[in-house]
Amino acid sequence: MEAGGRCDAGKQQQHLVCLPFPAQGHVNPMLKFAILLHHRGFHITFVNTEYNHRRLLRARHSLHGFPGFQFKTIPDGLSSPQDGDEEANCTQDVRSLCDSTSKHCLAPFLRLLSDLNSSPGVPPVTCVVSDNIMSFGLVAAEEIGVAGVSFRPTTACSFFCNALLQRFRQKGLIPLKDSNGGIGDSDRVLADFDVPGISTSIRLRDLPTYARISNEVNTFIMSFINTETKRALTKASAIIFHTLDSLEHDTLESLSAMCPPIYPIAPLHLLIDQLPDHGSLKFLGANLWKEDLSCLQWLDSKAPSSVVYVNFGSVTVITQRQLMEFAWGLAKSEQNFLWVVRSDGVMGEESSNSALPGEFYEETKGRGIVVRWCPQERVLKHRSTGAFLTHCGWNSMMESISSGVPMICWPFFADQHLNCRLACAEWGVGVEIESEVDRDEVEKVVREVMDGGEKGEEMKVKARELKRKAEEAVGLGGSSHLILDQLVKNVFSVLEPVSKA
Ligand code: UDP
Repeated sequence: MEAGGRCDAGKQQQHLVCLPFPAQGHVNPMLKFAILLHHRGFHITFVNTEYNHRRLLRARHSLHGFPGFQFKTIPDGLSSPQDGDEEANCTQDVRSLCDSTSKHCLAPFLRLLSDLNSSPGVPPVTCVVSDNIMSFGLVAAEEIGVAGVSFRPTTACSFFCNALLQRFRQKGLIPLKDSNGGIGDSDRVLADFDVPGISTSIRLRDLPTYARISNEVNTFIMSFINTETKRALTKASAIIFHTLDSLEHDTLESLSAMCPPIYPIAPLHLLIDQLPDHGSLKFLGANLWKEDLSCLQWLDSKAPSSVVYVNFGSVTVITQRQLMEFAWGLAKSEQNFLWVVRSDGVMGEESSNSALPGEFYEETKGRGIVVRWCPQERVLKHRSTGAFLTHCGWNSMMESISSGVPMICWPFFADQHLNCRLACAEWGVGVEIESEVDRDEVEKVVREVMDGGEKGEEMKVKARELKRKAEEAVGLGGSSHLILDQLVKNVFSVLEPVSKA
């Protein structure tokens, strides 16, 4: 080992195989993590599903020609639309993906590992870095006798909640219910139920959506998450969270008592920004849709902090009614806005842009722009962006926090309600919009955050504080650098799997 946690150039190179879940919000952070480790001297194989790899190539990423960094693919087990099909550029159904990857991916992944180990000129695989919901990667690592590490592009709090779900179910606290079949106890905080260490503002209603209501899909996801969580706890040599110690210190401390060694490293995109332009993969992107760069020029033409940026990520699909409520709420707010509406982002619409009526475009001419996909990190860093209306995907929130942008939260599914609660009640950088979205509320909240009122100003101050913390973590001697050094030294540079006696 060299000082600074670099892979020792004199020894056999360590080979890490990175296995993200095949969805945008998982591929992006895993790729960044892989690039950071490549920069530290590790040989990297990055494993996409065939479907996503085709999408990446179509989004015009050049994925070849990086010494020591290669892409490989495995089938996802779904009958994916082929190139040329209209649907080939859409997010796959998450439940089907969870089902299929957990049942069908282990065998092809093991074959890939075996091929890698017999490839001339490629160092033998020494570790599998497996996404939080691709735990078959940990099983594969165990089978071939190398270390397995769990990479979680989520908050530590979300993992903590997942680890508690079975206990809550046994206590009858979930699925949530009241006499009307509604969510009676939902306002009670988890801390009431003998859960030391969980942040005190988290309520039952903030638990992941699959835990709240009982139906066929949620029952499947609960059982799937249970397996994934257990495997991380029992098979991983380490767990990496894309979070900051300064954001989740208490939760991380509580988790460290029940987990394999944990490593909070964030924000990954700020760590990537620090890499040299030459000789690194710094500019390698993983967006599955082609980015519309015209929105950056449009932002250039607007005043500082004057634009509301609206984006619900890569999975959320909204109804036509919700689309209209957001549209007219934004129109009535009289603020500038940049709105990303994915081509597969509105229920029943093949082309979402056509789902917005001409009157809306007329009404908002000159102050609003709608595109299908944007370079989000650059949009959030842009000086004209003043607030982010978000679905609270964790990557989006981490990118917003790093840019000091306050959030208007409209959580949709999975851990997003939890993330929303942390932003609004713990960190004070968010304000929530009710799930039954209504144009008057959108107008009111957007004005509140943008118009210089007391609440909006408070959020902006807190958002700037969090930005400073994020910058501190990636600054000289900052926690993320130190923890990455430790991870490299204690886990990735050790050839044998860490014993869990
Ligand atoms: N993203 C982007 N452009 C867009 C929308 C999203 O670059 O127009 C990126 C965003 O920066 C983030 C990821 O896609 O890194 C979305 O992940 P997140 O966890 O926020 O939400 P998900 O898509 O998983 O719901």
